[in-house]
Amino acid sequence: MRELLDHAVKRNVTSFKRLKSEKYRELRAKYPDLPSHYVYTACQMAASIYRSFRKHKRRGKVRKERPRFRGSVLMLDDHLFRLDLERWEARISTPRGRLAFRLMHGDYHERFKSAKVGQAWIVRRGDEYYLKAVFRFDVELRELDGCILGVDVNENNVTVAWDSGAERVKTGERSIRTAYFLKRRRIQSALKAGETRERLLVKYRERERNRIADLYHKLALQIVERAIEIGASVVAMEDLKGIRRRIRYSRAMNGRLHRWSFRRFQQILEYKARLAGLNVIYVNPRGTSRRCPICGGKLSPNGHRRLKCPRCGFEGDRDVVGALNVMKRAREMWGASVPPEGPRVKPLAADGGRPSHHLI
Ligand SMILES: [Zn+2]
Repeated sequence: MRELLDHAVKRNVTSFKRLKSEKYRELRAKYPDLPSHYVYTACQMAASIYRSFRKHKRRGKVRKERPRFRGSVLMLDDHLFRLDLERWEARISTPRGRLAFRLMHGDYHERFKSAKVGQAWIVRRGDEYYLKAVFRFDVELRELDGCILGVDVNENNVTVAWDSGAERVKTGERSIRTAYFLKRRRIQSALKAGETRERLLVKYRERERNRIADLYHKLALQIVERAIEIGASVVAMEDLKGIRRRIRYSRAMNGRLHRWSFRRFQQILEYKARLAGLNVIYVNPRGTSRRCPICGGKLSPNGHRRLKCPRCGFEGDRDVVGALNVMKRAREMWGASVPPEGPRVKPLAADGGRPSHHLI
């Protein structure tokens, strides 16, 4: 991997095909015992790590001069591993032939019986190894009609709105984040820098991540249930890609926004919604919190968290306004630009995303 990554950097190669064509023979000759597909997947990973490094570098997000491979992730393709869901077993190709591993805990296999298995990664965390796999499901999406659930994601709540109602769900994320932030600060001031401190910090960071992930999953499930209850065919959200770059916040605000990973939440919601057969549409977020959802006029503040439209008299909570505008925009978009064959379809990852090895 390191060799491939060095080569990618030296020759500025970001394409998997090119990397493979330049290095495959050499590496096969060097490691004749290694199943050949490991060379494939290593090329894929090296190209992808370098691509993502270049992207972050261009945005000024990394200081390092070159990407680093920490050696904790190994990518497998369908030639290198098979999952036997009946026996709850994984068979993985190694230089010593195919080895079978019993998968530990989890009764997930019932849910995944209808799934197809795609790529997988072996991830090392400390002394333990995990197998992370992507499952694909074939889902029949509901036919598009006018029934839309608009979703507005904020730092401490998620608000949904539909034609005849709205609901705000408090996430409680801020208090979890704050509690862990304080805990880390206490550890930092109580212990001297060193291995013990580092280990504790990693432990709590991981625990925080798990609690937040758990929260996102529950929240997403609740929203999908609501969408089904009101008979929606579409879940609409704001397209927040790049929003952090577009808006300039103060430094404190920035830190907070970075911690609230609304993109991560959106991915989880998208995956759960699609799994339930709902279409997912992303709309332009511009002005969703400032415009009147009825007449499009500019809203004015009207007391705590409330907004009022001077033109038509509409009045509402600002988060509900956001969600209503998302719904309205999705409906407009649909008339204008949703193709007759329906919105874009992409395969689903069982955990709602890719593993984080891209973020060097
Ligand atoms: Zn109005």
